[in-house]
Amino acid sequence: MNYAFGAFSRREAFELLDCPRCSQTHTLSLLVTVVKRQVRFGGPVAGQRHFDIEWTCPNTGEMFAFPVSVEQADDESVQAVAVDSEGAAVLPPPSWLEAARGDAQKESLIVARDFVATMLTTSLGAAPVYFAVVKYLTAKRVSPPVWLAIPPAVLFILAAALFALALRPQSFEEMDAEDFLDNQKRRVRILRRRTDLASVVFLAAVVSACSALSWTLTH
Ligand SMILES: [Zn+2]
Repeated sequence: MNYAFGAFSRREAFELLDCPRCSQTHTLSLLVTVVKRQVRFGGPVAGQRHFDIEWTCPNTGEMFAFPVSVEQADDESVQAVAVDSEGAAVLPPPSWLEAARGDAQKESLIVARDFVATMLTTSLGAAPVYFAVVKYLTAKRVSPPVWLAIPPAVLFILAAALFALALRPQSFEEMDAEDFLDNQKRRVRILRRRTDLASVVFLAAVVSACSALSWTLTH
């Protein structure tokens, strides 16, 4: 005798090949009710359990019975098998597809973050370099006016701040596994938007630095 200590249901995909009513293949979701039990020496062993299931073909509307086999681990006892109420249920995409999709997103996130990290360092270093060049050039020349000399440095620092903001981890309220891919997509989108803005500011800084330096060289 086995002592049952918990019943639960799990879903299993089932391919009904060559339907006896419409001759097509139906992909069904089976609801398998299982009772967990203690493993007893000499008790029933793991294996397959066979059930006959009645189901209505959605194409012809005719009922028929078909046999299914479900796996039974040695610590469980399969009690019942039924077609999920949704009938030909929508099954989740295979896990390898999810994994591949997740990997692709993770990779694009890594590439984007690498770029942002490099640009953050570059922007931060650009302001002092710019000032050093201006100082060097104006040693024997006229200094550029403040309105021309200051903006490049401010823009470089602003660009660095924006790149840093893009790198900041974003927290989302819902973090269950189901939402993970959506979150990942959203994260990439937000990172892209912030990176684009920071890049524009960085380019503006470069252009204004060139203007300031060329002013210095021509005066
Ligand atoms: Zn059918």
